[in-house]
Amino acid sequence: MFLRLTDEQKMVQKTIRKFVEQELMPLESEVLRNEREGKPGISAEKLRELQLKAKKAGFWGINTPAEYGGADLGHLMQAIVTIEVSKTFVPFKFGGSADNILYYANEEQKKRYLIPTINGEKKSCFAMTEPGAGSDTRNIKMTAVKDGNEWVLNGEKTFITGGNEADFVMVIAITDKEMHQRSKGREGVTCFIVDRDMGWRSEFIHTMGEWGPASLIFENVRVPEENILGELHKGYQLGLEWIGFARWMVGARAVGTAERLLQMAIEYAKQRVTFGKPIAERQAIQWQIADSAVEIEAAKWLVLNAAFTLDQGEDNRHLASMAKLFGANMGNRVVDRVMQIHGGMGYTRELPIERWYREARLWRIYDGTDEIQRLIISRNLIKGNVKIGQYV
Ligand SMILES: Cc1cc2nc3c(=O)[nH]c(=O)nc-3n(C[C@H](O)[C@H](O)[C@H](O)COP(=O)(O)OP(=O)(O)OC[C@H]3O[C@@H](n4cnc5c(N)ncnc54)[C@H](O)[C@@H]3O)c2cc1C
Repeated sequence: MFLRLTDEQKMVQKTIRKFVEQELMPLESEVLRNEREGKPGISAEKLRELQLKAKKAGFWGINTPAEYGGADLGHLMQAIVTIEVSKTFVPFKFGGSADNILYYANEEQKKRYLIPTINGEKKSCFAMTEPGAGSDTRNIKMTAVKDGNEWVLNGEKTFITGGNEADFVMVIAITDKEMHQRSKGREGVTCFIVDRDMGWRSEFIHTMGEWGPASLIFENVRVPEENILGELHKGYQLGLEWIGFARWMVGARAVGTAERLLQMAIEYAKQRVTFGKPIAERQAIQWQIADSAVEIEAAKWLVLNAAFTLDQGEDNRHLASMAKLFGANMGNRVVDRVMQIHGGMGYTRELPIERWYREARLWRIYDGTDEIQRLIISRNLIKGNVKIGQYV
């Protein structure tokens, strides 16, 4: 066991850190200004330009297999890269990637959807949640009924990230009601790849964050049989796989953001003088800094362990739930303390703290709420599927 990054991993971390500091952080004021005028933080052209710069530095498709032109760095490196990129709120993501479940596409689907997504020519979204089925994913109602060589989809999805911009959606619908009921929702649902021009429409949802998900409405949308992703009636597993990946990445995002916020708090505390002394010299402030540092470190190890476990080809779901639950809550506690340390300034729109404060609240809700993570962790332990201290 060696609890340090290798020289190669350190080099990747350093290069990404430099990219974030030199290319992304200088855009922060512009992003805040744009968002406050109701515009996207950065334009699609600017995003593309940044992605190409990152590509030149060797960062394209961080986790995309080499056969698709990606860097294929693995999950541990993906976590490290995500932590670094999350130190800024500039809405950047590396080019050259696609949703994990899109790799289940057959050869024809790969040509039509996977490759254009990797190349940035098409945007995707994934839709499982419905107005009546969020945590309780097995309670979905959207139906797909076979008609000749097509499936006819009816229903509504909600809170779909990227749903207003996507060219196609990977959507989960019930394809066999009887099987769905008998298997308590685990089978009888299928994942379809559905182009926007096949007829679904989207409606933007305003949230307290700076970007909004969308509702997707399907009214008699006809989808050809060849657009089934993976196997017929086995879409639930794909859904779980999609959510599973996103889960520990929330923890990674929280770690990166909290590290940056804590640095801001330390700098502010050293220069803000009250009653004749910098507030950094007050124990009340020092303890908030110390507690934040300890919690960030703990969350980071949970995230890295979840990612490392996946790289070993092992089931990381228990660890992913822990990383998500602790990471999301740690992030909320840290941003709250950092706002407190900044006093009134922290609450203003002069600084980005209030923006992160609003964003952080989402971490405890999407990709499985706090309560659902606790349910998973305790169920694994009570049923004996995972033993205490099993991993290290
Ligand atoms: C901004 C945003 C983006 C999203 N992006 C996507 C996306 O891209 N694709 C997608 O499919 N979905 C997406 N979601 C949906 C998200 O995953 C769900 O909102 C989330 O799973 C919670 O579901 P819900 O909102 O229906 O809450 P509910 O399931 O109705 O839960 C309400 C409350 O009850 C609690 N609760 C529920 N069941 C239990 C239980 N058994 N025991 C104890 N407490 C319980 C919950 O923890 C929560 O506190 C997104 C949501 C948001 C807000």
